[in-house]
Amino acid sequence: MSSNTFEFQAEVRQLLDLMVHSLYSHKDVFLRELISNASDAIDKRRFEGLTDASMAAAGDPEIVLERDPEARTLTIRDNGIGMSRDEVMENIGTIARSGTQEFLARARELKQDNPDPELIGQFGVGFYSAFMVADRVDLETRRAGEETATRWISTGDGSYTLSDAERDDAGTTITLHLRAADEEDGLQDYTEEWVVREIVKKFSDFVAYPIRMKVERTEQEKDADGNIVEGGAEIQREQVDTLNSMKAIWRRPKDDVSEEEYSEFYKHICHDWSDPLLHLTSKMEGAFEASALLFVPSTSPFDLHHPEMSRKGLQLYVKRVFIMDECRDLMPDYLRFIRGVIDAEDVSLNISREMLQKDRQIQAIQKHLTKKVLDTLVDLHKDDPEKYRTFWGEFGPVLKEGLMAFGDRQERILDLVLAASTNDEKELTSLDQYIERMKEDQDAVYYMTGTSREAVLQSPHIEAFREKGYEVLLLTDRVDEVWLGRPQEYKEKKLQSIGHGEVDLGSDEEKEETKKELEEKKTEFTTLLEKLQSVLDERVKEVRLSTRLTSSAACLVGDTGDLSPQLEAMMRESGQKIPSMKRILELNPDHAVLAKLRGRFDENPEDESITEFAELLYGQAVLAEGAELEDPAGFSKRVADLMTKAI
Ligand code: ADP
Repeated sequence: MSSNTFEFQAEVRQLLDLMVHSLYSHKDVFLRELISNASDAIDKRRFEGLTDASMAAAGDPEIVLERDPEARTLTIRDNGIGMSRDEVMENIGTIARSGTQEFLARARELKQDNPDPELIGQFGVGFYSAFMVADRVDLETRRAGEETATRWISTGDGSYTLSDAERDDAGTTITLHLRAADEEDGLQDYTEEWVVREIVKKFSDFVAYPIRMKVERTEQEKDADGNIVEGGAEIQREQVDTLNSMKAIWRRPKDDVSEEEYSEFYKHICHDWSDPLLHLTSKMEGAFEASALLFVPSTSPFDLHHPEMSRKGLQLYVKRVFIMDECRDLMPDYLRFIRGVIDAEDVSLNISREMLQKDRQIQAIQKHLTKKVLDTLVDLHKDDPEKYRTFWGEFGPVLKEGLMAFGDRQERILDLVLAASTNDEKELTSLDQYIERMKEDQDAVYYMTGTSREAVLQSPHIEAFREKGYEVLLLTDRVDEVWLGRPQEYKEKKLQSIGHGEVDLGSDEEKEETKKELEEKKTEFTTLLEKLQSVLDERVKEVRLSTRLTSSAACLVGDTGDLSPQLEAMMRESGQKIPSMKRILELNPDHAVLAKLRGRFDENPEDESITEFAELLYGQAVLAEGAELEDPAGFSKRVADLMTKAI
């Protein structure tokens, strides 16, 4: 086939643009990226080779680097899985991850003048980083199990060309036509032996396959006994060095491995460009033996909440042999952001993904690791609250998904929950801290859910609590609606929504008094409440007097156990058919509007304005909780009429 030119997908063009024009000074990372890709490709070939011997490589797996100072090229060659022509087009030229478009738009907005490749590093832009150091990249590849090879060439502008190529064995060769070295720009001379050697040592030492490079050594002429000949000739000799130690980092004693080495290892396996937030190691002994090295990334991947989050799961090794990438069954879904490696001694090698899910050993490992991760986070919370808050900011909402199901980890996850609260404007609080501050007569942990902190703080439901000095947690993640949708308890304290049920605050005497007062008022208001109920009957299931309002006239609440309006909306969004739930309209008997309204009603129960006021009170209650009116035009007209009369 002759050569054909193709346009990059728009997203790729944008990425390349960010990449090439960025002022990013750590350009050396391109080599880490290409070596990681080569190592992944070898992993994949070995994995396929396990079930299909014809896929296995003829020779030992290796990654070879070749420098050519004259041609000014650096070549990276592997005998991994390779790519078919279609795969080249799919993998190199397109980005298929969902959410990429929005993410890029955001990245551009944020970093208009100085694009930040660490931000885009999380994409799997690894390959494109070659264009930071090269003005042309040639890639030749042949998929294991196929006869034909493909050549891909691009200068990193808008397009690339594809043509057929020759190749003896499967694998991939990438040739970089290097830009001129430029110290200021962070560009080294990548045809120099020591430059390449240092980069490999720094970024890729633990790569499990040998990274080899031909080097030249100059030696003095020696005699037959191996002694240097005085005044003898200088002899140029070539040798092939292995540049990396290949030591499995998770097998080395913890104290032997530096933070930096852990960091580089993380970047290698996760294709992330930023340091991890923290790492943890764990050894399982007894019935199942395994060692794990796990990482919490420092930022959440942009597709963390996409159902098909593209990079999750751990790498699974058995006795140091790579088995599979992204093994998703080793972590519960609510810890899907955890990355790392697990090396088991004896997982029965049922390598199909479906089998893994049911594997008892895998389940045992999952249980162990989950406990370990949660315990480590609890420790972090104690020992380094600031770092923990960073963690919580990135992954808190995901962690809370773990509270949606019944499980034996509930209490542990609740230990980890941080929430905004009325106690402090800025600082988040833990449940333990909340409980410590609880009033003597307080028997529940109060919370309010909503779409934003501001909205919740403004909601009328909170008034009595604030006035009486009861702290309220402000929970505003979508997931909060879900896990709090069923009864929850922490350290024998009920978690109670202040937007549901009746409010009963204070000491026993105070409660008694409030109750008495309310009973008295009820008798005064009965007929008015009935009237309002009849007007609003289609929309509310009850109109009653409130003990939770102090300055607002009205609010809407649910019965204990009712879905919150947000949860109801979320369930609808997800396509569930649920009947619309009527709520309760609570009115503040001490509010001037209510007093006047009652006066008017007592004078003339048939007064037409009562209906209007009923509508207005209801509309106000809807708006106060940040919800939308069913009939905004009608509401607005009523307000206008009212103003006309008032002026
Ligand atoms: P990432 O490696 O983070 O997924 P890259 O842009 O580096 O993103 O690579 C995109 C894809 O191209 C890889 O996922 C892989 O499928 C393919 N690829 C890259 N390099 C190689 C290689 N040396 N051998 C085989 N496939 C490769």
